[in-house]
Amino acid sequence: MSTPDPKPQDPQSSIPSLDRLLRQPEMAQLLARTGRQLVVEEARAELDRLRAGLAHGAHGQNQGRKANSSLEGLAQRIEARVAGVLQMSLRPVFNLTGTILHTNLGRAPLADEAIAAMTKVAGGAANLEFDLAKGKRGDRDDHVEDWLCRLTGAEAATVVNNNAAAVLLMLNTLANRREVPVSRGELIEIGGAFRMPEIMRRAGCRLVEVGTTNRTYQKDFSEAMTPRTGTLMKVHTSNYVVQGFTAEVSDRNLADLAHQHGLPYIVDLGAGALIEMRQLGLPHETTVQETLARGADLVSFSGDKLLGGPQAGLIAGRADLIAKLKKNPLKRALRVDKVTMAALAATLRLYADPDALREKLPTLRLLSRPVAEIAAAAERLAPVLRKRLPDGMAVTITPCKGQIGSGSLPVESLDSVALSISPPTGRGAGGALKRLAAAFRALPVPVLGRIGGDALHLDLRCLEDEAAWLAQLPKLQVK
Ligand SMILES: *Cc1c(COP(=O)(O)O)cnc(C)c1O
Repeated sequence: MSTPDPKPQDPQSSIPSLDRLLRQPEMAQLLARTGRQLVVEEARAELDRLRAGLAHGAHGQNQGRKANSSLEGLAQRIEARVAGVLQMSLRPVFNLTGTILHTNLGRAPLADEAIAAMTKVAGGAANLEFDLAKGKRGDRDDHVEDWLCRLTGAEAATVVNNNAAAVLLMLNTLANRREVPVSRGELIEIGGAFRMPEIMRRAGCRLVEVGTTNRTYQKDFSEAMTPRTGTLMKVHTSNYVVQGFTAEVSDRNLADLAHQHGLPYIVDLGAGALIEMRQLGLPHETTVQETLARGADLVSFSGDKLLGGPQAGLIAGRADLIAKLKKNPLKRALRVDKVTMAALAATLRLYADPDALREKLPTLRLLSRPVAEIAAAAERLAPVLRKRLPDGMAVTITPCKGQIGSGSLPVESLDSVALSISPPTGRGAGGALKRLAAAFRALPVPVLGRIGGDALHLDLRCLEDEAAWLAQLPKLQVK
């Protein structure tokens, strides 16, 4: 009887057991740092992946041997998996897109004062709905209402999650099951599914379209009034302009018409400037106080657009109407938390000294940043950037046009300066450009620019921390 051939080595058996793996010295540090549960889960997943690879792949045997020969490699892969799971998905980025209030990038950067106020209340209890003087339950709006009134001239004010929520709350409170005439020129879509007709429907209102896209007259509104009309509304056409042969009804006339019928006149203002933007060298944007002075009973606007605060929807206006809004159960569903409230309260206080706003409020500081200052930054940074790029990539300093963003002043552009990087022209230039943009996005603090023509443009208006930006350039890996 001949001895049987030795069994070919079973590749599966070359994969270490979980226990053996976890006992490796390489794993000890990881276990100590991140705790047992996550490491075990990821180690299991990695071992499963190896086994599955063996079961399928023709290269299974090789892989198995490799895995066995390098427990260290396995430990490294597990460490990378754990790091990947723990990596925060929400991270700071450099917004060099040229759009200052970029909705996808979190809109307004907050002032130091706002950040400090958030930090103070975040970790513990705060008197969010507690009146310390009276020793009884309070209203969370109390923390900002007086300031909103002081700044806008309104009798009362309230705060919800964002301006979309503010519009929903106003409409549902004042015109549920009623009709709301709105000019056809103002049936806006703000983006991210905020479309006026849809919001109307969800608020329980029947939208009555009046006038035409380019011209709407007082007469159109008067003829649309019925006993079922709930409110008159104007929507600030914030992300487009109707130009040329146009006519719209003024706030004053709409307010008068509404009041003749005993109805409120409400305005969705959007950006919500609280100061004259011309003071900062920017084009005029209708302020909240102007709109109220022209007869609006309620004005709604965002906290994180020109106001420069956290995401919030603010409503300012008549005290009796604000009281009604607060009684609507929707208000409870749309309210903001203590951290937002703290940031908003601190931001509003900065308006106590309008002369210091340009310095203290990042949004206004960036919007009014002199082009010469941006150009000087470009001169400083271009030579350093050039050294970090592969041969053949050209870096030029180019004048460019940025924009305010978030629908504010859509046709006005901000003169700015960009570092424009272009790969060698010719075949494959498009792919090279995409890889270049991807390399900037892969940095520890991702850098987001704008691709235009055959270059990646890094608009430097919003780059304030040059040192941090430069410090990570050595990690740039353009493939
Ligand atoms: C931006 C804007 C909105 C939406 O505001 P959010 O704060 O993003 O919810 C609604 N209406 C107008 C006119 C706007 O400009």
